[in-house]
Amino acid sequence: MKADREKLIVIGNGMAGISTVEQILKLSGSYDITVFGSEPHPNYNRIMLSYVLEGSKTINDIILNDLNWYEDHGIKLYTDTTVARIDSETRRVITEDGASVPYDKVIIATGSNPLILPIPGCDKQGVVGFRNIEDCNQMIEAARSYHSAAVIGGGLLGLEAAKGLVSLGMQVTVVHLMEDLMERQLDHQAALMLKDELERQGIGFAMGKKTTELIGGKRVEGLRFSDGTELACDFVVMAAGIKPNTGVAKVSGIAVNRGIIVDDFMRTSMHHVYAVGECNEHRGICYGLVAPLFEQGNVLAKHICGVATQPYEGSVVSTKLKISGVDVFSAGEFIEGPMHTVIAAQNDWKHTYKKILLQDGKIAGAVLFGDVTEAAPLQKLVKEHALMTDDIYNEIMGGGCCGSSGAKKSLSVETMASEEIVCGCNGVTKQMIVEAITEQGLTTVEEIKACTGATRSCGGCKPVVEQILQYVLGDGFQTESKQGICGCTKLSRDEIVAEIRGKGLKTIREVMNVLEWSHPEGCSKCRPALNYYLGMVYPAEHEDEKASRFVNERLHANIQKDGTYTVVPRMYGGVTTPEDLKRIADVSLKYDVKVVKVTGGQRLDLIGVKKEDLPKVWEELDMPSGYAYAKSLRTVKTCVGSQFCRFGTQDSMAMGALLERKFERLDFPAKFKMAVNGCPRNCAESCTKDIGIVGNDGGWEIFVGGNGGIKPRIADSFCKVKTDQELVDICGAVIQLYRETGKYLERTSEWVERMGLEAIQAAVLEDEEQRMQLLERNNFALQQVEEPWSQVLRENATRRVMYGEVNGDAPHNKLEV
Ligand SMILES: Cc1cc2nc3c(=O)[nH]c(=O)nc-3n(C[C@H](O)[C@H](O)[C@H](O)COP(=O)(O)OP(=O)(O)OC[C@H]3O[C@@H](n4cnc5c(N)ncnc54)[C@H](O)[C@@H]3O)c2cc1C
Ligand code: SF4
Repeated sequence: MKADREKLIVIGNGMAGISTVEQILKLSGSYDITVFGSEPHPNYNRIMLSYVLEGSKTINDIILNDLNWYEDHGIKLYTDTTVARIDSETRRVITEDGASVPYDKVIIATGSNPLILPIPGCDKQGVVGFRNIEDCNQMIEAARSYHSAAVIGGGLLGLEAAKGLVSLGMQVTVVHLMEDLMERQLDHQAALMLKDELERQGIGFAMGKKTTELIGGKRVEGLRFSDGTELACDFVVMAAGIKPNTGVAKVSGIAVNRGIIVDDFMRTSMHHVYAVGECNEHRGICYGLVAPLFEQGNVLAKHICGVATQPYEGSVVSTKLKISGVDVFSAGEFIEGPMHTVIAAQNDWKHTYKKILLQDGKIAGAVLFGDVTEAAPLQKLVKEHALMTDDIYNEIMGGGCCGSSGAKKSLSVETMASEEIVCGCNGVTKQMIVEAITEQGLTTVEEIKACTGATRSCGGCKPVVEQILQYVLGDGFQTESKQGICGCTKLSRDEIVAEIRGKGLKTIREVMNVLEWSHPEGCSKCRPALNYYLGMVYPAEHEDEKASRFVNERLHANIQKDGTYTVVPRMYGGVTTPEDLKRIADVSLKYDVKVVKVTGGQRLDLIGVKKEDLPKVWEELDMPSGYAYAKSLRTVKTCVGSQFCRFGTQDSMAMGALLERKFERLDFPAKFKMAVNGCPRNCAESCTKDIGIVGNDGGWEIFVGGNGGIKPRIADSFCKVKTDQELVDICGAVIQLYRETGKYLERTSEWVERMGLEAIQAAVLEDEEQRMQLLERNNFALQQVEEPWSQVLRENATRRVMYGEVNGDAPHNKLEV
C-alpha cells in the first residue's frame, strides 16, 4: 500500500457502494480502497434477481464486477465479511470477527433488509425474503420439492417473485393488504389491468387480506388472515417492504432516523463517514430504487475526490415492472386529487392505458399500462415539472386516442433534448450517448453500455438507446453495426490476425496504434485476446504481456472467493504415486490447506493456499503446474485401460500420459480437455472432451468438439487411426488448427460448429501437406514453452513483487500484482 494514498473503506459490496467506487476510480487514483461485503459474491445486479428466478438469466450473467475487476483495480475485497462498527476515536473499521482496519474515509453502503412481518410463525422453515442470491437459490430449491407458494406483498418485488415462482412450476397466490396492486405506483385503473394480465399469466390473488399468522409445524403450512380465513401453502415469500440497513451506523453513534441521515453531499453526522444508497435518508426520504443511488454516488464520488459538484437535491423516481408481457410505467404523482387536471386515455381493445396528471398546468405525474414507449420522455417531463403545451400533448397523447400513434407526432429521439435522461437507472443523457457514438465510433448497444453505463441495470432503456444509435449512424446503422472483438475496435478476430501477420505487428500496443483502437489502452476483453493472437503468430519472438492476462494466469493459481488460491499439480493421465501423494499430504498439512479435492479431471486440487505461500508450496511439492487456471491443456482423463481392465483393448493410461506430456503448457484460445479410453465402454467420458479418444481392437477412434460445461455438446467422431503415432499426429494437427483459427475464449464445441466438421477434416485428414505444416508449427510452438512454477521459483523479484513473499514479510499491495 503506498503511504501517500488515503485509505477509503466501503462497507457494503452492493450496487451503491461499487457504483460510487467506479466513479471514484474514474476521477482520482488517490485512494487505497478496501471493500467489505456480507455476501460471498462480487458485486452483482440485484435488479436482475427476478430474471435469475424466472430462469432467463444465470447468476454469472448478473455479476457486474467480477473478482478480476477488484484485483485489476487494486481493490482489497473481503467477501463474506460483515462490519460491526466504526470507531471514530481510533479511526478504524471493526468487523464482526474482530479484525480492524484503519481508515481516512468510510462510505457506508449497506442497502436494505427485507421486512419480515413480525407475526407468529414468521420464523418457520419455508419462509424467505427476496433480497439476494441466497434467497433466490432457496426459492429455486423450494420449487423442486414443494407445490404451492404464497407471496405476501403485491408490490413490484412481490409480483416479480410470484412470476418467477410460477415460471418454476409452482402454484402461486399473491396476498395483498390493499385492494389494488402496486398501490404506491399505480392508480386503480392501471392496477386492475395489471391484475387481469397477471391472472392470465397464472398468478392467483388474495386481495385486501391482512396476514396475522403463519401456521404449521416446524415448516410453514399456510397463512391465517385477520378475517379468520386461511390459505394453505408450503412456501412463503415475504415481500412486504424493505428496511434501510442502519445497524453499523447506529452502534457507531451516527445519527439515524429511518435511514442513516445524510446531507446533500452524503455526509453523515460522523466526520469523514458518508452513506450512499438504500441505507441512507436524504431530506426525510429513503429510496428503494437504483436511479437515486447512482445520482447520490456521482455527487459523493466528486465530493470525495475534490471535484466541483452540484449538491444532491433528491430524485424523482419512476418504476417499471420486469415481467415479460406486462408493460407498466409510473413516475411522480399518480392518484388524482382536487388540485389536479387529469388527461387520460384507455383502449380496451389494445389493453393500453395512459394518464397524465397536471398541477397548475405542469406535468406532475404519469401512469402507462400496455404501451410504455413514451416512458423516457414522460420521466423527464415529470422530473422537470414541464408546462403542458399543445406540442407535448400531441406528442404524448397522439391526438387523444391512446395507442393511435398514426395521428400523433412521435416523441422521437430526434426531437429529444440533449440533456434528456435516457437511462434513468444510471443517469445517462442523450448527449452522453450521442457523444460516445460520434467521438468513440461506437456502433452497438453493447459498446454504448460498456462506455456510458446506459442499459446496464434494468435494461428498460435499450429500445431508446437503439433508436439513438440508428438516428446518429443513419444509413450506416445496418452496415456499420458489424461487431468487433470488443468495444475498442470494429475489426473481427480474423481481420486482426491477418493484420498482425500482414503488417508484422509485434506488440499489443503496436496492434492498437496501427489498427486505430478507439481506447488507446484497450480493455479487459481485447488485451488478453491480442496477447494470445500475438503468441500464436510469433511463438518464439512474442514476449508474453503478463499484465494483459487474467489474474489467475498471471499468478498461475486460481483465486477463490475468500482471496486464497488453489494449487493443482500435474498428474499425467490422472496417475500418481505414493511418494507424490505423501508429499501432497505433507505440504497440505504444513500450509494449512483447507480442502484437498479430487477434480472432475482426475487431479488433486489443494484449495485455500495463501498468495504469499504459493511459491513455497510449489517448491515443496516439486511437481509441475497442472495449468488448472489457464487457457491451455488442463487434463487428459484416462480409464484403467488394457494394463488392468479385462475389457481394455488399448493402453489408455500410457497414451493419456503421453498426450499430456506432449501438449501441456501450450496456450490455446480457451481451456482444453482430453480423455483416453481403453475400449468403447468409454469410462473416462470421451464424448464431452475437446478431443476424446476411444480404443478399439484395430487402433483408436478420435472425437472432437465435446463439452460438458454450461453449453454441453457431444463430440463428433473425427476419424479412426491404426497406430499410436497417427493418433498423436492427428491430435497435434487438430490442436494447431484450433490454435490458429479459434477465436479467443471460443471452446472447440463452438469452433467445430462455426468452422464445420468437414472443413476441419479436410484440412487435417485429406490434405497431407497441410497436416505436416500444422504439425511442424505445433512442434515449434511446443519447443518454446516453459514450466511456469519453476520459472517463478528462479526469479526472486517475481516472488517478492507478485506474491509478496520475502522472509515472512507482509504481502505486497495488490496493485502490484
Ligand atoms: C428482486 C429485486 C428487484 C429489484 N428491481 C428493481 C428495479 O427494477 N428497479 C430499481 O430501480 N430497483 C430495483 N430493485 C432495488 C435495487 O436492487 C436496490 O435499490 C439497490 O440494489 C440498492 O443498492 P444498495 O447498494 O443501496 O444496496 P444493496 O444492493 O442491497 O447492497 C448492500 C450490500 O451491503 C451488504 N452489507 C450490509 N450490511 C453490511 C455490513 N455490516 N458489512 C458488510 N456488508 C454489508 C449487503 O449484504 C449487500 O450486499 C430491486 C431489488 C430486488 C431485491
Ligand atoms: S473404457 Fe473399457 S478399458 Fe477403459 S476402464 Fe472402461 S471398460 Fe475398461
